[in-house]
Amino acid sequence: MQRLWDTHFQLLILLYLLGDVISQVNPGVCRYPLGMSGGQIHDEDISASSQWSESTAARYGRLDSEEGDGAWCPEITVEPDSLKEFLQIDLRSLYFITLVGTQGRHAGGIGNEFTQMYKIKYSRDGSRWISWRNRQGNEVIDGNRNAYDIVLKDLEPPIIARFVRFMPVSDHSMNVCMRVELYGCEWLDGLVSYNAPAGEQMNLDGEPVQLSDSVYDGAVIHSMTEGLGQLTDGLCGPDDFTHRNYVWPGYEWVGWTNESFPSGYVEIMFEFDRVRNFTTMKVHCNNMFTRHVKAFRQVVCYFRSDVHWEATPLSFSPLMDDVDPRARYVTVSLANHMASAIKCQFYFADTWMMFSEITFQSDTAMYNTTLAPPKTGGGPPTSTDPGDDPTHKVDDSNTRILIGCLVAIIFILVAIIIIILWRQVWQKMLEKASRRMLDDELTASLSIQSETFTYTNTNPPCSTVPSELESSSTYERIFPLGPDYQEPSRLIRKLPEFTEEASLASTAVAATATKAPVATVAQDGVPHYAEADIVYLQGVTGGNTYAVPALTMDLLSGKDVAVEEFPRKLLTFKEKLGEGQFGEVHLCEAEDMQGFIDKDFSFDISDNQPVLVAVKMLRADANKNARNDFLKEIKIMSRLKDPNIVRLLAVCICSDPFCMITEYMENGDLNQFLCRHEPEGQLALISKAPTVSYSNLCYMATQIASGMRYLSSLNFVHRDLATRNCLVGKSCTIKIADFGMSRNLYSGDYYRIQGRAVLPIRWMSWESILLGKFTTASDVWAFGVTLWETLTFCKEQPYSQLTDEQVIENTGEFFRDQKRQIYLPQPALCPDSVYKIMMSCWRRNAKERPSFQQIHHALLQSQD
Ligand code: AMP
Repeated sequence: MQRLWDTHFQLLILLYLLGDVISQVNPGVCRYPLGMSGGQIHDEDISASSQWSESTAARYGRLDSEEGDGAWCPEITVEPDSLKEFLQIDLRSLYFITLVGTQGRHAGGIGNEFTQMYKIKYSRDGSRWISWRNRQGNEVIDGNRNAYDIVLKDLEPPIIARFVRFMPVSDHSMNVCMRVELYGCEWLDGLVSYNAPAGEQMNLDGEPVQLSDSVYDGAVIHSMTEGLGQLTDGLCGPDDFTHRNYVWPGYEWVGWTNESFPSGYVEIMFEFDRVRNFTTMKVHCNNMFTRHVKAFRQVVCYFRSDVHWEATPLSFSPLMDDVDPRARYVTVSLANHMASAIKCQFYFADTWMMFSEITFQSDTAMYNTTLAPPKTGGGPPTSTDPGDDPTHKVDDSNTRILIGCLVAIIFILVAIIIIILWRQVWQKMLEKASRRMLDDELTASLSIQSETFTYTNTNPPCSTVPSELESSSTYERIFPLGPDYQEPSRLIRKLPEFTEEASLASTAVAATATKAPVATVAQDGVPHYAEADIVYLQGVTGGNTYAVPALTMDLLSGKDVAVEEFPRKLLTFKEKLGEGQFGEVHLCEAEDMQGFIDKDFSFDISDNQPVLVAVKMLRADANKNARNDFLKEIKIMSRLKDPNIVRLLAVCICSDPFCMITEYMENGDLNQFLCRHEPEGQLALISKAPTVSYSNLCYMATQIASGMRYLSSLNFVHRDLATRNCLVGKSCTIKIADFGMSRNLYSGDYYRIQGRAVLPIRWMSWESILLGKFTTASDVWAFGVTLWETLTFCKEQPYSQLTDEQVIENTGEFFRDQKRQIYLPQPALCPDSVYKIMMSCWRRNAKERPSFQQIHHALLQSQD
């Protein structure tokens, strides 16, 4: 669809370039996207009253674009009756705007903010702002019902403006975000305003016929000043003005009676954007002589290009028509007068004179009947004999050129359309073919790049790994910047039941009390910041897929990494250590391990002794995705070398089952480890449970901070820091692990949306949940929670008193920051100084959170 619009836009431009053959504006045709989605409107021309963050700035308010955090969002919630916030577009010149489109913030499923209602203000000069109203006088436009669907609204009447503002409106306090597009075409008439006597009311057989200019956007007192209205709205009145087409009979017409004009004429002054070379003026006149209405009998026009009016006016008298009562365009030649203002006196031919449109052709723009808007009455172009009309002579002289140009244009257009269609079909075929190829080759191509692994002569490269080994581009093509995070949400969007329920939820937020999760939210009438996500929560079970951390370019480019293929036969199974998403983790004895691993890593055993290693195996029935994720985790881990990061020693990926061999951590993961232990004290003495001293807890926390400091120095975002993902070795040593997957055992810690994605929401910062933003600062937030877990001995889940839905609700409170957010409480063992560190990790402003360097330092100091 978008492409089609773009094509239209290009064709329009082509029309301009080729012949400048332009008619007066036709609202039925003038519906081209003006460049929010296509990018023709530049970032600097999009501004806003405020922005909630840099990533939701005005420039991200482009329809159908997912840039930034997915939309423009104002800084604060929109309150009823407050019209403070707006998204403004500067089109740089005047445009005739017939349609607007809006969309909310979807951000691949993470966002759920949209604008249910909005108003539009516009300006032609940037200083006088006019509120748009529809033909019934209503200002409010119905907006979106969900965050992703585009809602298009016809602007009736259309707008002629350079600046347009979208102003979100709400009947309750609400977080809103917008993406918008304007549709229309350039306003070639250049008319900025017309001043005319106010239209009058006709009494027709006792019935009033209102002939005022009801959409005039200037001031109307006795006369109309500084505005545009019905004479430029592109709507031609019907032959029979008593016929009701729109709001009331006579609505399309602006009319005057000669009784109010002793001079015998109505004077209308037209102001233009610049000095123009005028060829013609076309006036759409009613000619229902049976009702004493006729086109004007004479027009006298004065021209002004600076401050003074030219002394000699131009005069033109069309032939009167007492035979044909149809409405018609009367074309007046303006004989190439240069002017920025024209003042015309239209002389009455009968009691009434009625106009519905007045258009101007200037410079190289010419009137072209084939492109003209359809006339409601279908009347002749003028009331005069073409042979006598000087205007028609002008038209006739150009007819041949025009026809020639048109034929040429049609040929070129047809050729262009054929080329475009052909290209699109061809592209689709190519895409399909390459997708099929990628699918087939996904298994190995995703993970292993030539620089990822080096092979010694004794261990030649695996023959099972296809040729993509040499290519690093395949990886990026399939996974551009964290797509795993978005993919599930895109699926949510496609699910029909989601679409249906989402619209239900948004239309009746307050009425969703039957859905337990949102009931609490709906009560105060404030929609939740991520309301649809809450509605579609499902129970969490095992076997979930999980968002894999995005690889950073730093890591991908590392050339000094070497992980060797290890001969499977040298591994001897000892026992099962646990089970994760990929499969089982075994404790194994490995022979000759030292010969396969980095020289900088040594086991504390004598040479040639078998060493204990943990072997993570990919289950035999793993699908392509799991194999890819497994290889991805290998790739990540192979580049991480730090005393507090679990070390990948070698791999077995030449044959199935894939294995990763890591150092063995005797005490398993920190969560289980702490669950088995008690704090030192009387209780532990009585229960005889093993204990961990406070200083050891601090020591462990400090090591986690140190490992994270290393990761953050690589710009690596872990995304899933928690005690369950830290391993405990001898003497309370800690190493951070799990660079990719959740595990069954802890599935309760993850939150599943539509059964597709699981997110560790209790460890996630508010911006990760609401905006899908994962940064080192969001890792810092997770560290605060991990520290809390550690000091509570993992005896309970974070926010255990809250349901998953309430945790997300609480996230909304963090966003709103109205002091209603709930923080994790200070653990009994936790001194104030350490709780202060924890709290600093949960600061709303990510920039105000400490770095891991600072946390590490502060924890070291707290132990003194
Ligand atoms: P994972 O698949 O990484 O989630 O691991 C599943 C479980 O296996 C963990 O919860 C640990 O209890 C255990 N485990 C994993 N890696 C190791 C290791 N290197 N040393 C000791 N136990 C491990």
